[in-house]
Amino acid sequence: MRKIASQKTLDMLTQNEETRYLRQLILPDFGAAAQQRIKNSKVFVAGAGGLGGPASIYLAAAGVGHLVIVDRDRVELSNLNRQILHSTNDIDVPKADSALQTLSELNPDIIIETHHVSIDDSSISELAKDATIIVDCLDNIPTRMVLNRYSLSTNTPIVHAGIDCWTAQLTVLQPPFTPCINCLFEDVPEDGKPKPVLGAVAGVMGTMQALETLKFLSGNTTVLQNKLLFFDAQNMDWVKIDLHKNPHCPQCGQPT
Ligand SMILES: [Zn+2]
Repeated sequence: MRKIASQKTLDMLTQNEETRYLRQLILPDFGAAAQQRIKNSKVFVAGAGGLGGPASIYLAAAGVGHLVIVDRDRVELSNLNRQILHSTNDIDVPKADSALQTLSELNPDIIIETHHVSIDDSSISELAKDATIIVDCLDNIPTRMVLNRYSLSTNTPIVHAGIDCWTAQLTVLQPPFTPCINCLFEDVPEDGKPKPVLGAVAGVMGTMQALETLKFLSGNTTVLQNKLLFFDAQNMDWVKIDLHKNPHCPQCGQPT
């Protein structure tokens, strides 16, 4: 199912937009040119859960011109400790519909396109078509591998985040210059058990995904290419680790 909240033309900033985005337009190294680039961008957000909520809220608030958000699930009560796109009244509603409602109320000046479908190798080409960048807000490795294959075949960058209990990680993957998701993870099957997570940790990481995406779109430099930012939320430790391509990676490595 495909739903679009509004269909706006991507032209120069309007008076209303100059007011809405005033506080970022006056940022050093930002300004109207950066805002115009953000406005003319299409961002594919994979997942409308704990990461996708804060990520898409800040991307919409910042004026990304065309947001595509895909999630196959419906809202459950146990989602609501962390999934801030959705509220108690949205239980049993497709997350895609709830996301559309929340985000279109936040910013009616952008195109918000949501899909209540699975992301797989047959659907992603159409879902992510012409996206400037992909935001990986997924919670499972097999679907991340779908993003990875699409990213490698189209040279579309991915802002990846993942959470494991009290720890989390963030990196920007830009083929062919960085490792790919397959270099970082083994494609292991999911066990289907609930994964422990505190909502605020997902909020921090989803917000940082939005931040790195906006820096990329606006022409500011991300320092997270070939780096993994590791976050230990219990001890408030942030560590940047160098990443290297796996030369034998079956997805991004050189064919032998
Ligand atoms: Zn790889």
